[in-house]
Amino acid sequence: MRKPIIAGNWKMNNTKKEAEALVNQFKPLVKDAKCDVVVCVPFTNIETVAAACKGSNIKVGAQNVSWADKGAFTGEISADMLKDVGAEYVVIGHSERRQMFGETDKTVNMRTQNALKSGLKPIVCIGETLDEREGSITEKVVTTQIKGAFEGVDAKLLDNVVVAYEPVWAIGTGKTATAEQAQETILYIRSVFKGLYGENVANALRIQYGGSMNASNASELMKKPDIDGGLIGGASLKAEDFSKVVNF
Ligand code: 13P
Repeated sequence: MRKPIIAGNWKMNNTKKEAEALVNQFKPLVKDAKCDVVVCVPFTNIETVAAACKGSNIKVGAQNVSWADKGAFTGEISADMLKDVGAEYVVIGHSERRQMFGETDKTVNMRTQNALKSGLKPIVCIGETLDEREGSITEKVVTTQIKGAFEGVDAKLLDNVVVAYEPVWAIGTGKTATAEQAQETILYIRSVFKGLYGENVANALRIQYGGSMNASNASELMKKPDIDGGLIGGASLKAEDFSKVVNF
């Protein structure tokens, strides 16, 4: 049985003070959650949020990680640095990074390998654009993204991986994929993992949906058999909204 995992992706929001206030607001509201609860916060908030979440059921994640261990990589943050300040998870390959910061399947692969090697749990993001969906190439696109991101990744490490299916057209648009659309694509994604890693690994892999998931659509999405959680943007920035998603 796969344990659901709901993760907030704060993106580039919140100063340390705001971060601490937000976490302290939702901490009591999610304490009885039946799912894993994660908040993926800006680098500068990780230490503050980890301290505020200590002893609670909330885990902390980053939003990117370097593929290198150390050295001349201006602007990058290593896996050891993230673990040092209390991160356990890391979002890799978010569509915003792919679209605006030159992230490719190759760099997603390098970052994923490094996260796994270092003991961080990657939340690897994939998903098609509106043009790609309308061109009926969603399956082709996610297959390429999965093969690229997981090339050379050992089956033994898949236990620590979460995949987030985030159709780009549903991110921040208020336009959620219907629960049927999300289920259909996530079932397909699971079949790709079956082909690569076999039935047992694929059946144990947690796959989230992301894209305008909120308090009003979370329970419908979470009822679908292959949807194991959510990666929540906008709705993770308000304590009440996020807690309603977590307590779907
Ligand atoms: P929204 O929930 O704001 O649509 O963002 C989804 C997302 O990109 C999470 O990573």
